[in-house]
Amino acid sequence: MRPFAIARICVVATVFAAAPAAAQAPDTILVNGKILTVDQQFSTREALAIRDGRIVALDTTANIRKLAGRQTRVVDVQGRTVIPGLIDSHLHAIRAAQTFATEVNWIGAASLTDALGRISEAARTMKPGAWLIVAGGWNVQQFKENRRPTQAELVAAAPGNPVYVQLGYGWAMLTPLAYKALNITTDADVPSGGKMERDASGKLTGGISGGQGAIIALFDKLPRPTFDEQVDGTKKFFRELNRLALTGVYDPGGNNLAPDDYQAVFKVWRRGEMTVRVAYTLCGQTPGAEFEELKGLAAMMPQGFGDDMLRFGGLGERITAAMNNNNRPTSAEKEQYYQIVRWAADRGMTLTMHWNNDASVGQLLDIFERVNKDVPIAPLRWSIAHLNDASAATLARMKSLGIGWTVQDAMYFGGDGYVQQAGADAAKRVPPVETGRKIGIPIGGGTDAHRVASYNPFTSLQWFLDGRTVGGTAIRGPEETPDRAGALRFYTIGSAWFSFDEKRRGSLEVGKLADLAVLSKDYMTAPVEDIHTIESLLTLVGGKVVYAAGPFANSQ
Ligand SMILES: [Zn+2]
Repeated sequence: MRPFAIARICVVATVFAAAPAAAQAPDTILVNGKILTVDQQFSTREALAIRDGRIVALDTTANIRKLAGRQTRVVDVQGRTVIPGLIDSHLHAIRAAQTFATEVNWIGAASLTDALGRISEAARTMKPGAWLIVAGGWNVQQFKENRRPTQAELVAAAPGNPVYVQLGYGWAMLTPLAYKALNITTDADVPSGGKMERDASGKLTGGISGGQGAIIALFDKLPRPTFDEQVDGTKKFFRELNRLALTGVYDPGGNNLAPDDYQAVFKVWRRGEMTVRVAYTLCGQTPGAEFEELKGLAAMMPQGFGDDMLRFGGLGERITAAMNNNNRPTSAEKEQYYQIVRWAADRGMTLTMHWNNDASVGQLLDIFERVNKDVPIAPLRWSIAHLNDASAATLARMKSLGIGWTVQDAMYFGGDGYVQQAGADAAKRVPPVETGRKIGIPIGGGTDAHRVASYNPFTSLQWFLDGRTVGGTAIRGPEETPDRAGALRFYTIGSAWFSFDEKRRGSLEVGKLADLAVLSKDYMTAPVEDIHTIESLLTLVGGKVVYAAGPFANSQ
């Protein structure tokens, strides 16, 4: 017995002695890369080491290899470019995710033929007779045919399915089976503000046009995915974002996003299946009753509550219906809004606010300045979304309040219309991100997907650099065009600021979360017109592989 006991003690001693050394070895090292760290100097490194989900070293390949232990996974990226995981600072991800498993996606389709092919494909692969819904995220100029689909084309693509195709928030095309299922036969059956479209000869085209409210109400008549489909859609949508190098989003809430709509993402989080870090926000739902609703919802939700995968990020972009897209709010409407944001400030809450144009944004800034007299708002990191024509004076006011600006590629789809409306000269400075950067306000990149824009961050990054609309018109001038490093900063460390995460992620530095993507092409040297074709080949979130393709397909 005695020798055995001694032997056991020895083994235990050895394990104890070895434990600290073993814990020092990285879980994963990534070598032979062109790693764009997006640190202060925008420095490039060859290799990095990851332990317990964080970056523990960045160095040459030779030096990082020396850190590896027997258990360390070595990923040789063979000269490829590695970037910090991208963060979209204004993506309606929770809403897009709910329906992702039950929708047909037209983002990036280069022709109407290709788009219709996706409808036919869905008719084959989805349940017989299933609704085929394109909820947005496309634009006619992306198609080489440069036009919308006709009803006959949709019927030909999927004769046995009800088909619904929405364009932005102004138009939708439905097939006869869809009309039948929704019981729409005359204009009286269309939600108010919308009407059935007729061609020059007065014949119904199958389209419905109308204002945003009408189109949202029409969309809400479509069958909702079941809860299981929502959970499935959420997981699939996050993987789709991972495919495009995204590892984080700030979700601004928005129209018609009720507490029930958050349950799918909450379930994915509870199961530990999140592959994108989400900051979520609350929006008012019922016109006039927003304050009571928000007080109730936020009562048990302190700012920042959650963890690194899912965190409460304050109030979303639609705080009251009265102040939503309203250039001339009444004093009563402004007072009601003031009461809410003052309450938010007292509670230490972040908020992001949707505002479309510079001419009327002063009314919002007046309110923020009024709050700021009593409660400094700079530490709360409030932000304004959109504001594509922001003047230097507005940006300076935002700077002095400590307010950030989330910028989306709205002009990618909307630029040609903007040129017609405001003129080519005005369009040259839209959006004035270089002015904003020089003034020193925090700027985040993003898209506003998925109804009004594509969620592809590389489409948005390319648009930052070339200022071209989807139809190919270059409208932005060089004065407001960032360089590649600058655009990447907006989409990483810039976006991280809005959820107080710039010290945890947004760049690849020692101590930060290991969120990164190995790209299919070099973002820094690829021809600008090819940037939208970049994808991730390997995406890590907290050091874990969440997407792997091509040469890395087996590393999951
Ligand atoms: Zn918005």
